Amino acid sequence: MTPARIVVVPGKGVVPADTPILTADDLGVLRGDGIFETMHVRGGRPWLLDEHLDRMARSAARMGLALPPRAELVDLAEQACAEWPPGVEGALRLVCTRGPESGATGQDPRPGGAAPVTLFATLSPVGQASIEARRVGLAVVTATLGFAAGARTDAPWLLGGVKSLSYAVNMASQRWAAEQGADDVLWVSSDGYALEAPTATLVWLSGGTLCTVPAGTTGILPGTTARWLLDHADRLGWTAAERMVTPAELARVDGAWLVSSVRGVAAIRTLDGAALAADPERTARITALLGY
Ligand code: PLP
Repeated sequence: MTPARIVVVPGKGVVPADTPILTADDLGVLRGDGIFETMHVRGGRPWLLDEHLDRMARSAARMGLALPPRAELVDLAEQACAEWPPGVEGALRLVCTRGPESGATGQDPRPGGAAPVTLFATLSPVGQASIEARRVGLAVVTATLGFAAGARTDAPWLLGGVKSLSYAVNMASQRWAAEQGADDVLWVSSDGYALEAPTATLVWLSGGTLCTVPAGTTGILPGTTARWLLDHADRLGWTAAERMVTPAELARVDGAWLVSSVRGVAAIRTLDGAALAADPERTARITALLGY
């Protein structure tokens, strides 16, 4: 049986899943002003918890957000996992918003302001579409992100590399893909480079080198799954590298995948309608290495 969603609130522990947690003036709701992390729960434990908490701390620092101490976040994660059946894959979310606009000290959402944040965790089953995509792969269409690959590096307000709650553009991109009959989008910079997908990192194999797009110079989200995969690529007999790539070049590589914590690994079967190299055995080896 599919387990019900678990919700954990600091100081209250696990609460009924329909418990109201935010006030109507929470800045996370009003402005998408907050951060989150999503982790894969396997064997009853969050995979790569440290890496996700590191990234969350970096996101908080970049947004001037007073993220509670790491021990509190670990505690929330552990409370959620304690209630979860170990044999079921889960998606654990940690969410931290800037808190209520009208809070006692919450008037000032500027960096360093003393607004009390809103923090909670949820743990839900992994969606069937994600599990299915690992097996059948994805039809992906390219879509412009509207700015050059390097635009975000000197513009910290664009929040490159930050996992903020402002995902409306990401979700709109995926709806647009669905309208084209595709499964997902590959964002492309205005100067023609493939960047990332709205909820996943691009990885490709080229002549024995497993590659991904550099996060530092492009402002894409530094993916924990892709990082772990490239750090262990030697176990599959490959070297690893960060490179820029164009969609036209992807048409000639030895395989391309979208990877993320909850989705795992999904081969890009077609890009803008053209078939990409897709060797199911390679996908299976990557999937096994990542433990999905
Ligand atoms: N890029 C974006 C924009 C994402 O939202 C995500 C995950 O949700 C990823 C990449 C993949 O990151 P991770 O492997 O850490 O889940």
